[in-house]
Amino acid sequence: IGGHPKPQSTPLKPASVKTILAVASGKGGVGKSTVSSNLAVALARAGQRVGLLDADIYGPSQPRMMGVSQRPASPDGKIIEPLRAHGVTMMSIGLMLDPDKAVVWRGPMLMGALQQMISQVNWGELDVLIVDLPPGTGDVQLTLCQKAEPSGAIIVSTPQDVALLDARKAIDMFNTLKTPVLGLIENMSTFHCPNCGHEAHIFGHGGVAVEAERLGLPFLGALPIDLDTRLAGDSGTPIAMGDGPMAQAYAALADRLIR
Ligand code: ADP
Repeated sequence: IGGHPKPQSTPLKPASVKTILAVASGKGGVGKSTVSSNLAVALARAGQRVGLLDADIYGPSQPRMMGVSQRPASPDGKIIEPLRAHGVTMMSIGLMLDPDKAVVWRGPMLMGALQQMISQVNWGELDVLIVDLPPGTGDVQLTLCQKAEPSGAIIVSTPQDVALLDARKAIDMFNTLKTPVLGLIENMSTFHCPNCGHEAHIFGHGGVAVEAERLGLPFLGALPIDLDTRLAGDSGTPIAMGDGPMAQAYAALADRLIR
């Protein structure tokens, strides 16, 4: 991507949206969407006006995680009305497509879809629009960073070496695109056995904090492997809506980002 020039076209960010925050990962399956939905909910509970855009075009999971399935309306055939769930205004490409059909699109179609989801959705007044990106370093990331002026990106990784290796590439991409990386989150950090209390480091432990330190970036926190987080995501009510330790962890994360 080093050779990509900055585009000449006008920025995509709607005037009513104060900041765009990208949530990214190198690898898939590390919990990027889980963190996105929970962070969105935690920020909304902290009084922010929050939008959540599911830009994970190949595997949109926000409809399931936020518990929405209806197709967004577009009364004039141009502007799309987003949905509301758990205090968050949301939109996902998954709501516009057949959930059982694979998306087989080339770059220009992906970019068109992303642009539509940002500029043709009636987001209203938002303090922050969280964009749940696809994993990796592809066309969607490039278009978002070049055209929508995100204020920053958060990187989610597990402590496992293979995930960290790809996270480094994602960070490098954001550096190249001049999008500030606001910090790293270690997800699936530890596992506390609910029966015996033993703490197991299934994907390793502490690697993301070490990486953040090495890169001179803030380490935003570690989130354990937690059955209730998974169940809550699958049921369409993010764990951050509750009042247990995980909801508190997300509230702390939201607080850190607001300050
Ligand atoms: P990604 O967006 O990186 O592909 P997801 O957020 O879809 O990852 O998470 C992948 C799976 O792991 C989902 O089933 C999700 O519920 C689960 N998951 C994510 N984070 C955690 C966690 N901290 N504890 C338990 N399960 C988790």
